[in-house]
Amino acid sequence: MQESQYIWFNGQLVPWADARIHVLSHVLHYGTGAFEGIRAYSTSNGPAILGLAQHVQRLHRSCKAIYMDLPWTEAQVQAAILETVSANGHDACYIRPLAFRGYGELGVMPDKNPVELIIATFPWGPYHGSSALESGVDVGVSSWRRMAPDTHPAMVKASGNYVNSMLVVMEARRHGYAEGIVLDHGGYVCECSGENIFLLHDGVLLTPPIGESILPGITRRFTMRLALDMKIPIREQRVAREMLYFADEIFMTGTAAEITPVRSVDHRTVKDGRPGPVTRGLQTEFFGIVNGQAPDKYGWLTHVQVPARQ
Ligand code: PMP
Repeated sequence: MQESQYIWFNGQLVPWADARIHVLSHVLHYGTGAFEGIRAYSTSNGPAILGLAQHVQRLHRSCKAIYMDLPWTEAQVQAAILETVSANGHDACYIRPLAFRGYGELGVMPDKNPVELIIATFPWGPYHGSSALESGVDVGVSSWRRMAPDTHPAMVKASGNYVNSMLVVMEARRHGYAEGIVLDHGGYVCECSGENIFLLHDGVLLTPPIGESILPGITRRFTMRLALDMKIPIREQRVAREMLYFADEIFMTGTAAEITPVRSVDHRTVKDGRPGPVTRGLQTEFFGIVNGQAPDKYGWLTHVQVPARQ
């Protein structure tokens, strides 16, 4: 990975190489962390963070769900993120806040382990490679299921949840797919290892509902807002697996993947294999806003003051 100068670590900016934790930190053993993935885009007015407030709110919700009292308010975390992006002098970057249980006692019960917070920022390109946004990617349904609602808190970005995502994406890559689609405990389409999923079926854009083990993606929410304003009929509903095989369009949304078209599922080509008009239209609107070419009419962007380079 491309290293930056600083990492924000419990309130201080420390040199990248010095941001270390002890090997007996609780999070390493039991997955007791919560994190976010945020992007800052390059605009003519400097870097702009997409969905800063929404991501920080989700981080706090994630912490609450796993009994971690974060000793920084949402406003403080937002300010720390702005400080880190600015100190690292980025134009565009990926932002990774991670709250975790640190070093104290060893044992599953974490009451004696402090809650710590780091914020790292670094350059990162398109998640599925440079041609994915244009041409789409091939995906497959995973043999792994998304965790059932009474097992893990699937609605939050808890670190431990990502063993499931890791299994899904590793299996998918070994099968030659870019990404895996996970079904929920009932066998309905849920999401992907790191993206939400949308299908165009009989002229209606469908996506699985919140509360059915999906992560409530912020890009999902933004895409739904765009679709509403573009008068594209949209519905949150259960999606049967076979609908993936005859949908007119499919795309995935995520901070990393942005709006990535799906070219095929389980070797069934989506329509003619090229991104359809709804996917294209949503991509145009989305990238227009985040790249600062179209007005930020929803107030999604937070501009960062970056000191002029010497
Ligand atoms: N689902 C999962 C499992 C994810 O990890 C992500 C990435 N955070 C998403 C969906 C998409 O969420 P967002 O649009 O907020 O990045």
